[in-house]
Formats: sequence, structure tokens, C-alpha cells
Amino acid sequence: MELLNRLNQQLQALDDKQLIRKRRTVNSPCGARVSVDGRELLAFCSNDYLGLANHRKIKLALQEGAAIYGVGSGASHLISGHVRAHAMLEERLAQFVGAHLESPRAISFCTGYMANLAVITGLTAGDKEAEIFSEELNHASLIDGVRLSRVKAHVYPHANLQALEVLLKASKAATKVVVTDSVFSMDGNLAPLPQLLALCEQYNAWLVVDDAHGFGTLGDNGHGALEHFNLRSPYLVYMGTLGKAAGVGGAFVAAHETVIETLIQKARPYIFTTATPPALAHALLTSLDLLEGDEGVTRRAQLQSLVAQLDDGLRLQRWQRLPSKTAIQPILIGDNAETMRAGAALYEQGLWVGAIRPPTVAAGTARLRVTLSAAHNSMDVAKLIGALNALERDMK
Ligand code: PMP
Repeated sequence: MELLNRLNQQLQALDDKQLIRKRRTVNSPCGARVSVDGRELLAFCSNDYLGLANHRKIKLALQEGAAIYGVGSGASHLISGHVRAHAMLEERLAQFVGAHLESPRAISFCTGYMANLAVITGLTAGDKEAEIFSEELNHASLIDGVRLSRVKAHVYPHANLQALEVLLKASKAATKVVVTDSVFSMDGNLAPLPQLLALCEQYNAWLVVDDAHGFGTLGDNGHGALEHFNLRSPYLVYMGTLGKAAGVGGAFVAAHETVIETLIQKARPYIFTTATPPALAHALLTSLDLLEGDEGVTRRAQLQSLVAQLDDGLRLQRWQRLPSKTAIQPILIGDNAETMRAGAALYEQGLWVGAIRPPTVAAGTARLRVTLSAAHNSMDVAKLIGALNALERDMK
């Protein structure tokens, strides 16, 4: 069939460029050790930064949630799918990050991808006087949100405050929206949020912060990047995901109540989709208690000590560990083929590390993306360090 032939040719073209991605099926809960094809692997590739994805208390809460609410919400939020568990979660999330916002309110989403589409389109779509200013290294979901909004968009170079200021100064838009990741997902570094916020306040722009990788891991109480930098402003629009450090799934946006009401009324990725199963929202209440409590403090300290251990132990010469202090610890190799070979060699040794190539990262910057978790212990990290140091030497 002609249509299938065309698809096959396109897949072959990807294969020729060594860009075909393979999925591996995991036969165990998410954790430091996972089972794949009957082998136990030490996994350094999940976003389960605090090791909550298989936490006994959250699993019990999920069962309890299913017993109370059943398994499906049955409808979208604006029809009949907005259940008490969602309302309780939203209230709890508004408290969780509310110290950093004015008149805080939160809205929950099925995924971070949808939250990002919703927040950007909700703030701008249909507004002829809106312009977006998007950071170069933003996550794909933010980029897609900008595309979907169909308003004029500028991409400013990574962490370049001067370039952003030039753009903001020149803009005549009545609604300006600056959009940034807080922790860059492929680099692990932090955006200069205090300086970005100062610019937004000066030029009257919203600052949308995607804290997918900071929520739960940053700040003394795990409240994320806004707590880490001690920021508070009515200009902040905060997006956090609940499938990484929080260990479950879903996402939320927290901001001034007027922003949230606007999203409820206007954001199509919120309006036209079935609400997440309420049992998940119920389980997340336990997850948030853990993040804020002593266990969260202990787990964040464990994560930080593993980051320091990796930093101390790696002796790389040709490869380069990017200067990240977060759980995302990329090792820049550059060449696609060498990166893939390195990933495969680690896998052979039972170490599962993500090998990331273009187009996910810029050409010539292929890398191993190590992610650490409080579920790891120092022996696990020592094993990874030994393997990486030896591999770099051997692959010369
Ligand atoms: N933003 C960032 C920075 C992310 O890394 C991700 C997920 N990898 C998302 C948004 C999307 O979140 P979710 O996985 O919940 O859709």
C-alpha cells in the first residue's frame, strides 16, 4: 500500500541516520533497580528523583482512592469529572507553593505536557496584542504550547538576559509572556529566575516557570524553584509536574486566582479532555505530605550527597560533565555514534543511562544523561563512577 510505503521510507531515513529509538519494557516497579528482559539493571535514567514512585504509603493511598472514588472520572472537569479528590489536591497545591504567589489558586492537569499547552494558550490565544518570549532550551511541551497559541513568538538565547531585555523593550504588546524551564531538562542547570522575574516586573510581563524538575527536589521544603530562589510575585505563573519527584503523575499550574480562572474558562487542553482518575489525585495528597515532611528532607539530602559523590568521583578528560547541581547530571560526549556506543557499553554492564542525541539536543552535543535518585545508595553511584571513568579511557 502506497501510504505504508511512504511511512516505511520515512522510518528508513531515520534508521539510516541512526535516529531510531527503541523502547525497553520494564518488568518491575520504578526504582534504583529494575528488571528488563530478565536482567536486573541499575537505572540512572528515571525522573523518580526522590524514589517515591514505589512508595508503600502512596501505593496504599492509591488503593484507598480507588475504593473511595472508583477508577475513572468519567468526564472532563467542566462536565461532571471534577471530583472532590481533584478539588482537595488543587487546594493543597495552592498552599504548597502559595507563599510565592499573590492570591494563589491551583488547577490540576493529566500531564505536564498538557499543562504547558494550556498555560501558554490560555494566557495568549486569540489575543492579537500578545507576544511570547521563549527560552532557547525550553522543553518540547512549552515549544508546542507556543506554536499552538499562534501569537508572535521570540526565542531568546539560553540564559541571555540582555537579549531578552532588548526584545521586551522593543515590544509593544499589551500582554507579554516570558516562558522558561527552571531546571533545564537536558543540561540540569537552573534558569536565572530572580533576574528573569525582575525583567518581567520591569516590562510588565508574565513569567511562566516550568518547574518539572525542581518541584519536590528544590527548596528546604521541596516547594521547588520559587522556594530555592525565595521569589514572590503576582507576575509568576508556576507549572509543576507530579510524575517526577512526586512519584505519581499529572501536573498543575498555580498562579493568581484570575489566571487560574482564565485557564478554566479558556484553555482547550484543560477543557476538552477527561479528568485524571480521582484516585491519582487522592494518592498525590500523601505524596505531598511526604515531600513536605521529614522524609522529603531526608530524601533530598540523600540526593544531594549522591550528586556531590558523582562530582567528586568522575575523572573525565575528553568527555565533559556539565556543571549541574541537580539530579540531572549530563556527560557531554558530542559525537552521536560514540554516545550510543557508550550507552550500549554501560547497558552491557547492567547500568541503564539515557543516551541523548539530536534533535532532542543541539547537533554535536550528544550526551549521556545520568539522573540520580534518592532511591540510589552510594555503592550504586560508586559503580557508575567506576564504569564511566573506565569507559572514557577504553573508548579512546
Ligand atoms: N516540562 C519539562 C521540563 C519536562 O521535562 C517534562 C517531562 N519530561 C514535561 C514538562 C512534561 O511533563 P509530563 O511528563 O508530566 O507530561
